[in-house]
Amino acid sequence: MSDRAEKTALVIGGGIAGLEAAITIAGAGHQVILVEKSPQLGGTTRELYSSFPHWENPAELLQGKIDEAQKTGVQVKTGFEVISSQKQATGYQVVLEGPGQKREELAADAVVVATGFELFDVSAYGEYGYGSYPGVVNTLEFEARLREWARGEGKEAPPQTVAFIKCVGSRDRSKGYPYCSKICCMITAKQAGLVKELWPDSKCYVFYMDYRAAGKGYEEFVRSVIEEKHVRYTRGRPAKILPEDGRLLIRTEDTLMGVPVEIRADMVVLAAAMQPGPGTREMSRIFDLNTDQYGFLEPLSGQAARVGERVFAAGGCIFPVENQGALQQGAAAGAGVVALFNQAR
Ligand SMILES: Cc1cc2nc3c(=O)[nH]c(=O)nc-3n(C[C@H](O)[C@H](O)[C@H](O)COP(=O)(O)OP(=O)(O)OC[C@H]3O[C@@H](n4cnc5c(N)ncnc54)[C@H](O)[C@@H]3O)c2cc1C
Ligand code: SF4
Repeated sequence: MSDRAEKTALVIGGGIAGLEAAITIAGAGHQVILVEKSPQLGGTTRELYSSFPHWENPAELLQGKIDEAQKTGVQVKTGFEVISSQKQATGYQVVLEGPGQKREELAADAVVVATGFELFDVSAYGEYGYGSYPGVVNTLEFEARLREWARGEGKEAPPQTVAFIKCVGSRDRSKGYPYCSKICCMITAKQAGLVKELWPDSKCYVFYMDYRAAGKGYEEFVRSVIEEKHVRYTRGRPAKILPEDGRLLIRTEDTLMGVPVEIRADMVVLAAAMQPGPGTREMSRIFDLNTDQYGFLEPLSGQAARVGERVFAAGGCIFPVENQGALQQGAAAGAGVVALFNQAR
C-alpha cells in the first residue's frame, strides 16, 4: 500500500486552470510539480486589464491563486517544458527541459494538462488589413493597449472612434473554424465598455452577425454596455477596411435596418477565434491524449476531466473558456487526480 504523501502529480501550464488544479491536489496533501513554459505564472489572465462579468481586477484573482499555490506547497518550475514521457505501470517517467536546455527527470503518478488556448492569426482575413494597418489589432493586443492607457503609459494618442468586428475566424468554414469561440462576444463588450469608461466622449461601434452571452450575468453585462455606456451594436459584417487620411474606413450594411453604414475609426479590434496552442498539440502527442478534430483535448466519454490514462485536462486546452469556467475545470481536474490517488491507497 502506498502512502498518500508519496503520490506526485505533474501539472502542465501555470494559467488560472493549472493553478487551481495544483492547489486542489496539494490541498489534499499530495506533492505537486507545476511546470510553466514562460518565466511567469498566470497565462492569458496576467495580460488582462479588467474582467467580465463584474469589471473585476484579474491581477487580484491571479495573485490570490499564486499565494494559495505557495501556501499549499506547490513546487513551481517556470521556464520548463515537458519534452518526453514514458508510460509506467502507475504513471509516467517525464523529461523536462528548462532554461539553458537543462534537463530533469521526474516520476508522476498523474498528470493535469492546462496549456490554454491561443488566438487565431487574423491576417488570414487580408481584407481587414491586420499586419498592414497599424490601427487594426486583435483582442489581446487591444487588452494591452487598454492597460497602458489606463496607467497613463500609452505611446499612442487615445482613439476617438473604435470599431469592433466579431467572429473573425470563428463560425466561418472558409477561412477559420466552424465553431463559435464562446467568449469573444463578452470580451468585445468588455473592451468597448472600457473604452467608454476611459473616454466617455469616444465612439464605439460593434459589428456582429450574432451575439452570444450565455453565462450568469452575461446578458445583463452586454445590455449595460449598450444601454449605459452607449456602445452602438450594428448587425452586419464589414467586407473590407480601407485606410483613408490616417484613419480606417469601414463600410457595411446594417442588415436589421437595411441601410448602408459608413464609419471612420482610429482603431479596429478583431475578435479573433481561439484555437489550441502548440503546447496542447505537443502534450496530446507526448501523453497520447484524446482530442477533437481541431486539436482541443476531449474528455473521455462520461468523464468530467479525464483525457487519457492517468491524465486530466482543464481550461482553454479543452475549449475557449472564461476565468471562472477555467477555475471550475481546474478544480474538477484536481479532484479527479485526488480521487485516483485515494483509490490507489
Ligand atoms: C483578449 C482576451 C480577453 C479575455 N478577457 C476575459 C475576461 O474579461 N474575463 C474572463 O473571465 N476571461 C477572459 N478571457 C479568458 C481568460 O483569459 C481564460 O479564461 C484563461 O486565460 C484560461 O486559463 P487557462 O489556464 O486555461 O489558459 P491560459 O491562460 O492560456 O494558460 C495556459 C498556460 O500554459 C502555459 N503553457 C502552454 N504550453 C505549455 C507547455 N508545453 N509547457 C508548460 N506550460 C505551457 C502557457 O504559457 C500559459 O501560462 C480573455 C481571453 C482573451 C484572449
Ligand atoms: S462568442 Fe460571439 S464573437 Fe465569438 S464566435 Fe461566438 S458569436 Fe462570434
